[in-house]
Amino acid sequence: MKKIGFVGVGIMGKSMVRNLIKQGYEVTIYNRTKSKVEDVLKEGVKWAQSAGECAKDKEVVITMVGYPKDVEEVYFGHGGILDQAMPSAYLIDMTTTSPQLSIRIHEEAKKRGLHSIDAPVTGGDSGAKNAALTILVGGEKEDYNTCLPIFKAMGRNIVYQGCSGSGQHAKMANQIAIAGALSGVCEAFTYAKRQGLDQETVFQAISQGAAGSSQMEQLAPKMFRGDFEPGFFMKHFIKDMKIAMECAKEKGLDLGVLQQVLSMCDELADEGKGNLGTQSLIQYYQKDKQDDWV
Ligand code: NAP
Repeated sequence: MKKIGFVGVGIMGKSMVRNLIKQGYEVTIYNRTKSKVEDVLKEGVKWAQSAGECAKDKEVVITMVGYPKDVEEVYFGHGGILDQAMPSAYLIDMTTTSPQLSIRIHEEAKKRGLHSIDAPVTGGDSGAKNAALTILVGGEKEDYNTCLPIFKAMGRNIVYQGCSGSGQHAKMANQIAIAGALSGVCEAFTYAKRQGLDQETVFQAISQGAAGSSQMEQLAPKMFRGDFEPGFFMKHFIKDMKIAMECAKEKGLDLGVLQQVLSMCDELADEGKGNLGTQSLIQYYQKDKQDDWV
């Protein structure tokens, strides 16, 4: 399988496309805003005029758009991917979206003789750049095996989770863990600062101990520098936490920490900070302006 259509070429998608090209795949792309992909268009990919056209005549179609509504649009829209994909094509949605939506796509794909896989990722923009993503796969095991070489072009830790929607549920578990880890990082360094300690000195020590995490390692230095550029958008993190809350509720689970972090992030988004990176959660703790490092 060498011909790939790739829909949604943003922070993550761009690096993933580049890694597919490096491994010799022929990639055609479509992105809602063409001006944002002029750079990658100079690197040997073809352009399609719509998501449906991008899917036409491709053995594999990968989607990496933003929200569940974007996924719905590109798959179910008139002349969209499901309408245009060639018989027996593999449809791989790598967007973080709702597990129920993955199941809906899977059922519709099956009716049309298509294969469908949910394969959300973790590892952030650096993982995407370095072809080092963790990929969480849901769908038929046989389809996972068939698509494994494609996943290997973009990721390192590729794990089959079970039936359709399982990849998304595993990703929700990841986001729940991130909510706890990220808020812990923010509280730890706010506390250290308020006690008059030098945060970078504290970071040197505790990032190497039992409290260390990739959230701490990657995001605390950005917080110290006041660098709030997105690797992972706050608005996307909010989308993920809302999906996770809904799925938890359906199972009668009350996830208190997740709820708390979601409402803090919502508050920041209401102040217009949704397009910042998730490290801007530290700003929630700086509201009283007692600390001057942000
Ligand atoms: P992004 O930069 O906003 O990329 C999404 C791209 O999809 C944008 O370029 C957007 O077009 C395009 N798009 C949206 N709707 C579309 C449509 N209907 N048709 C065609 N293109 C469409 O976001 P990202 O950071 O790459 O994240 C993508 C997904 O991966 C999200 O679900 C996110 O939660 C997840 N994720 C992100 C990270 C991370 O660290 N960034 C890590 C793991 C998972 P426009 O250019 O017009 O906006």
